[in-house]
Amino acid sequence: MAGEPQGDCLFCKVVAGAIPATIVRETETTVAFRDINPQAPTHVLVIPKAHYADAAALAAGAPELAADVLRETQVIADEEKLESYRIVFNTGSGAGQTVFHAHAHVLGGRGLQWPPG
Ligand code: 5GP
Ligand code: ZN
Repeated sequence: MAGEPQGDCLFCKVVAGAIPATIVRETETTVAFRDINPQAPTHVLVIPKAHYADAAALAAGAPELAADVLRETQVIADEEKLESYRIVFNTGSGAGQTVFHAHAHVLGGRGLQWPPG
């Protein structure tokens, strides 16, 4: 069923506490934790606790939860004192998505080039 935990999903395991992560914030519906391979001084992933494969599935299947994730990215940016930052949802393997549980990357703490690669 949409949103149900998937046994083979890395980020469902983070939500369940089965894989350790440096969690920076947790709400009833979301978890934010530091990326294991940071691409900027601040690189935090914000995920819904419920499993959706990508941002599009999340937005279509649970729009309020998608809003929770977006709201949390702002809270993280404030907590990390980021004046400028980037929110990235890689969608599809061709765009670099490697974990198929929707997640927002919050990147900041250095100059960010535009357009991205
Ligand atoms: P994607 O490439 O799907 O957009 O982003 C997945 C992100 O998850 C990558 O930036 C990768 O470094 C991060 N990641 C992969 N495995 C783990 C892990 O076990 N723990 C944490 N904290 N991050 C992970
Ligand atoms: Zn999952």
